[in-house]
Formats: sequence, structure tokens, C-alpha cells
Amino acid sequence: MSYGLYINFPFCKSKCSYCDYITVPDYNGYSDIYLNALIKEMQLYSGNKLKSVYLGGGTPSLMPASQLEKLINALHTNFKISKKIEFTIEVNPDDVDNQLLKYYKNFGVNRISLGIQSFDDEILKFLKRRYNGKTAEKAINLAASFFENYNVDILFAVPQVQSLKKLENDVMLALKYKPKHFAIYDLVIEEKTYLGWLLKKLQIRAVEDDDYVEYYELVYNLLTASDYYHYEISSYALSGFECKHNKLYWRNYEYIGIGAAAHSYINKKRFWNYKFPRQYINAVLDKNNAEESFEILDDDRRLGETIMLNLHLAEGVNIKEINKKYQIDFLKKFRKQIEKLINQELIEVNNNNMKLTFKGRLFANIAASEFL
Ligand code: SF4
Repeated sequence: MSYGLYINFPFCKSKCSYCDYITVPDYNGYSDIYLNALIKEMQLYSGNKLKSVYLGGGTPSLMPASQLEKLINALHTNFKISKKIEFTIEVNPDDVDNQLLKYYKNFGVNRISLGIQSFDDEILKFLKRRYNGKTAEKAINLAASFFENYNVDILFAVPQVQSLKKLENDVMLALKYKPKHFAIYDLVIEEKTYLGWLLKKLQIRAVEDDDYVEYYELVYNLLTASDYYHYEISSYALSGFECKHNKLYWRNYEYIGIGAAAHSYINKKRFWNYKFPRQYINAVLDKNNAEESFEILDDDRRLGETIMLNLHLAEGVNIKEINKKYQIDFLKKFRKQIEKLINQELIEVNNNNMKLTFKGRLFANIAASEFL
């Protein structure tokens, strides 16, 4: 079988104000034992072919070169990997230097994802990122000199400190380097974060819905005018540079996730690993199994999820494919829901295809929930 592989590296030097992932500092080389657990878990999937590899976190760019080399050797020992597959590493701008990028190239990484978020010092400080705008720009400049294919993450809807003008400046500055891919996310204030705490104390106010729409439209206008294709709700790419790994999730294809908190989806079963790195390490090293829990997805559930995920993509839902795979008449089965969403101008249906309208992209969850 052939899968996308996600590897989680849940270590960060500090905590960003909006982050609700489980991450820990690398106390005294803790990540060494973690690496051994990753390699052991990998062996459970030995022999499979990979379509893509994505090393995310956390901050995988904190991983020392010796660890990365060991991890990549283990990948080649355990999986069938063609040199051509997309291999992405997430990189914190603060960690970028010539040597790091040279290592990545030598190890066969062919795509990096730069977590820039903003070039504005006030915004970066508010987000508790550990670099300033100059460092972020230096990172993108260096990334562009090493990699043809790299992604830039930018955040919008940052309360208090962001304005349309500041967002425009961020996008325009990144555009100078013509990254092949942009991931532009709205900042969601989660309860168990520093920003969540500030919100609860009424020390900040969430961005209003109308402002949110303006941010979203601004990004869309700037990037589509520069030849980027808005191929997924939060993602833009130049032709041929859509993220293959992420598309695999949006198409609801199968994937393997290794590491703490990683999810896998194989043969109608979704399962997930222990969340905390210590629990994960103990589970793998003691029981040779990191799985905390699982669910088996029946046909209805898989159908609903496939529609929900496919709707994220500009190409939308391929009706013929769905009919064949689930032995249904899609348009008949969902006639009421489809009519309702067309009336609300959230979706459009043409021949063999159902997709979100521009307005629908802003309310994707509402549209998708009709099919679940
Ligand atoms: S770098 Fe990413 S994972 Fe780490 S604390 Fe910040 S947002 Fe969270």
C-alpha cells in the first residue's frame, strides 16, 4: 500500500501565545529518546510505499543534524521511497542558516515550510514568536536561495495589533520572493492558550466577522492577482506547486502518522497516539504500540467526511467518483442539503462537480456540516 507519512516532533523552545498544541522544551536531550521511539514506531509500518513525507511539529528545525540523519536513514530502511516524492520539513525562521538548509538538501528534503506568520515586530511580539521581522526576512531570503519549493505561513485576524495595511505589507513583502506556496491561516483563539486567557479577562477582543471577511478578501485579491491559485481554503500555490501531502488529507486518502499525538487513517480505521511525549515514548518502548484510541469509520461516516474534506479544495467533490466508490446517487441522496446550500449561495454544482463558492469558503464548516 502507499501512504502519506506525517512525523511529529513536539519540541519547541518557547510557547507562542496562540498555540494549543502539546509541545515541550527539549530538556537535556530528551528528543534523543523520542527519536528512538519514532524509529521503533516506524518499524510497525515497514515495507509500505510512501507518497509524501511531512516532518512537522512543534519545531522540527530544532532537530540536530545527527538526529535528522538517523531519522532519514530509518525512513529509507523501513519504507519504499522514491527520490521524487515531496519531502517537507517545517522550519522556524529563527533556526534558518546556511548550514541547516544545506543539511536538508543533502538529506533529500525538497520542500520547506517557513512559519513566518508576520514580518511585523509588534505582531510577532504579540504572538510570542521568538524572532523579529528582520530575522523572518533573512530566513525567506535564504530559503529562496536554497529551495525552489517552499511555503510561507502568514497569519491573519490577529486581534489588537493587526490591520488590513499590516496584513497587506506582510503578504507584499513575502511576494517579493515569489514563494511557490502560501498557507494563510486565520488566528483562532483557543481557550487553553495565553490569548484565550487574555480574551477571558477581557484584555483583548476577538476580530469582528466583517473584519475577518475583509482580511480574507484582501489576501485572495493580492495573491490571485500575482498568479497564485487558491486551491484550498487556506492555501495558495503557483501552478504545479500545490502541497501534495496536504492534498492527500483533503482527498481523504490514507496516511500514517508517527510520533506523539499523531493520527493515522488506514483501512477504514482512524487511530491516534498518546498525546504527551513522555507517555508516547513509554508506550512505544515498553509495549511497542503508541495507539491511545481508535474508531472504525462505517460507509456513511467515510462518505460524509470525504465530502467535507473534498469541499476544502477548489476542485471540490467529484460526483462520479463518489457515486462509484459508495454505490450511491449523490445528487439524489443529498438533494435537500444541496438545494439549501445553493439557495444560501454557499455551493455550486456543475455537471460532475460540487464546490464551494467564494462566500462558501468563508462558511465552509456550515456547508460541510450538512453532509455529516
Ligand atoms: S512554534 Fe508552533 S508548535 Fe511551537 S509553540 Fe509556536 S505555534 Fe506552537
